[in-house]
Amino acid sequence: MNKEYDVLIVGSGAAGLYGALQFPENVNVLLISKRELTLSNSSLAQGGVACVLDRINDDFQLHIADTMTAGKNKNNPAAVETLVREGPGDVLRLKELGVDFDLDENGEMQKTLEAGHSRHRIVHHKDSTGKAIVDALIEQVKKRPNIKICDNTLLYKLDKTDSGFLAGLVYADGSSEVVAAHYCIMASGGIGRVYQYTTNSAIATGDGITLAFMLGARIRHLSWIQFHPTAFAAENDRERFLISEAVRGEGAILLNCNGERFAEKYDPRGHLAPRDVVSNAIMQESIATNSEKFYLDISYKDPEFVKNRFPMIYQNCLKENIDITKDRIPVFPCQHYLMGGIDVDLEARTTVDRLYAAGECSHTGVHGANRLASNSLLEALVFSRRAACDILNRMKTDSNPSFPAFDEHDDLSGKKLPHGYRTEVRKIIQDCHFVIPKPEAAPQSLERITEILSDIISGGYEINRDFVEARSLATVAAIILREVVKQDD
Ligand SMILES: Cc1cc2nc3c(=O)[nH]c(=O)nc-3n(C[C@H](O)[C@H](O)[C@H](O)COP(=O)(O)OP(=O)(O)OC[C@H]3O[C@@H](n4cnc5c(N)ncnc54)[C@H](O)[C@@H]3O)c2cc1C
Repeated sequence: MNKEYDVLIVGSGAAGLYGALQFPENVNVLLISKRELTLSNSSLAQGGVACVLDRINDDFQLHIADTMTAGKNKNNPAAVETLVREGPGDVLRLKELGVDFDLDENGEMQKTLEAGHSRHRIVHHKDSTGKAIVDALIEQVKKRPNIKICDNTLLYKLDKTDSGFLAGLVYADGSSEVVAAHYCIMASGGIGRVYQYTTNSAIATGDGITLAFMLGARIRHLSWIQFHPTAFAAENDRERFLISEAVRGEGAILLNCNGERFAEKYDPRGHLAPRDVVSNAIMQESIATNSEKFYLDISYKDPEFVKNRFPMIYQNCLKENIDITKDRIPVFPCQHYLMGGIDVDLEARTTVDRLYAAGECSHTGVHGANRLASNSLLEALVFSRRAACDILNRMKTDSNPSFPAFDEHDDLSGKKLPHGYRTEVRKIIQDCHFVIPKPEAAPQSLERITEILSDIISGGYEINRDFVEARSLATVAAIILREVVKQDD
């Protein structure tokens, strides 16, 4: 008997989990995650969620204006309006679902300031907000009998049929199966791992974007990458942990290799300017000082306040022998976030019938050319809920007959993928499309990436996680470089 679901949700980050919770008990949902449920960019989020909860000291128009300014007015105004107006409802819902937001002395959610925001409006759980959200949502999802959760389950293919999708899955034990679903919400996260250095989790290889692209979905602005100015400058680690904006929001000062403040030279907002501006300032100062050494200094603040406000950052830095209550923190920009993705409308519908996308893999237009801090968890919540609502509406009229019988097993065997493709792709993108991009290198880089991709696709390799991720990284790199080449024409 073939397995059929009403809805397949790819991803157990904020978008996938919150989306899943919108479905009532008569809707049969399969939620998959290619690694452990908690391994995601959502779990890494530190700063918090931006939203206007205090309508006396803040208002929707200000949040909209801040979002548009950060995004260089390349945002979709309708999507921004939806995000800002509907977001507070979703944040309050998170609280009902058990997320332990920090409270102030009046029992209201504490609101902090982050770069680019004109008001204190970031709600948080210390400096591990994402983990608090993911943990609470997983607990809720596990209580729902209509949601089947499969962790360590990799989606390797998504084929379209008239009434939905056939999805190829590889399970934790290495066995594989093809299952059917009438609708699919892609909530598969970002692409950070296409860079040598990123704040992103190991899962961020752009699989969902690649599978949607292979189905013909429109992908937009994949070259719109946000670089975070203050990732911990570890020597070799690919995944660099973040020294959140909130640390600067609470008063940390950005210094160059000579211990001098410099951000104000490049922008009057100094180190509280939006991320792209601060990243650019660091790269320019790096050229001016001929050094890649930069620091954040919060050591002049009360140590107890620092430890209590940033316990995770404090601990992470201690592991690197930096006591942030006494020492300067070495920082440098690295890849952090993808503004583009699978193009969707306000209901999170992609250009492929029955395929939805939400969260970091999607392009709603909310962020424009540069995301305002703490708007992405909000986007994941608002648009995954909208995707689920749209599916529920469609289910009232779509007939959704059973799928005709299909083959449950693909032959996944093949040669072992050669070593080195992923490393080469990463190096090419890091060299060509970092904070100060080198568009002149793009055509040649694209040629090489195209060669790699065509070998991956037609080389007869075994289909496993290594293969799927290498195919995704090469596909994402090719789309980025094609965009750059086109812009440069
Ligand atoms: C260090 C860091 C700090 C951040 N801080 C903040 C913050 O303070 N505020 C904020 O708003 N945003 C923040 N962000 C951004 C934000 O966390 C992410 O944009 C958002 O959480 C993305 O959620 P998501 O659900 O779309 O994807 P993710 O949370 O990344 O989840 C993706 C899921 O897809 C699954 N998946 C992927 N490919 C496959 C496949 N082939 N098969 C099966 N499953 C698959 C993964 O296993 C994972 O479960 C931060 C990001 C990072 C990296």
